[in-house]
Amino acid sequence: MEGCWNWRFHWRRPLRAWEEDSTQQLIEAINHRHPIQDAKDTWSWSLDVKGKYTTRSAYEQLAKKEETRLLEYRKLWRVKVPSKVSAFSWQLLLNRIPTKVNLAMHGILDGNQSINCYWCESSLKHSDHLFESCKIATNLWRKCFNWWGLQYALGNNCLDVFQQHRWHKGSKTLRKGWEMIWFTIVWSLWLSRNEASFQKKKPKEDKLFEIVQIRAFHLVRNLLNLEFSFMEWISNPLSCLTNMK
Ligand SMILES: [Zn+2]
Repeated sequence: MEGCWNWRFHWRRPLRAWEEDSTQQLIEAINHRHPIQDAKDTWSWSLDVKGKYTTRSAYEQLAKKEETRLLEYRKLWRVKVPSKVSAFSWQLLLNRIPTKVNLAMHGILDGNQSINCYWCESSLKHSDHLFESCKIATNLWRKCFNWWGLQYALGNNCLDVFQQHRWHKGSKTLRKGWEMIWFTIVWSLWLSRNEASFQKKKPKEDKLFEIVQIRAFHLVRNLLNLEFSFMEWISNPLSCLTNMK
């Protein structure tokens, strides 16, 4: 139209329901932008004064919507655990891990495939089930809380459980130690889920708890450079962290 710019989109395939909100946001974002004819096209990142893309600006923009989560996410990267474990946990809190629920939601999983839990076979509604509400996960958390002598109350999701270390304001050692256990637990649940998925191995609950204790023992000793025996670790983990810096 004369003096007026109209955006017309042609998509290669029909949009899925979850993509429609994003499309609306895109239209709102560009609706008042009118390309200049005969000018050379360039890329410009609007979140940076120089128009240059930085991952930091993208991260902060994405996190802005979820201020309370941002603080927890930053903490997550500061915990001493292997980077693959931090990266996995980051994806877990953002609900970006490739569980059957997420794959089905993105149309990757065949609609005829079951999206039941590998362990308890209940219908999966959200990935948090594997890490929190499935009986395998709940029992593991309960055992680990008991092992650390902590009261437990599972929240609605993994972030709630991660935040529980805030209760321990009086003890930095306990807080830091428990953070490492949280990572070990979610990582172990994920590996166990993968074994169930790819090797059809169902976890034995006592075995899974032992695996978490062994994994955490190596993790804490190696990453914090502390000396203690495995027996000390399983009988009183907190005393093993007394000399932690
Ligand atoms: Zn389950």
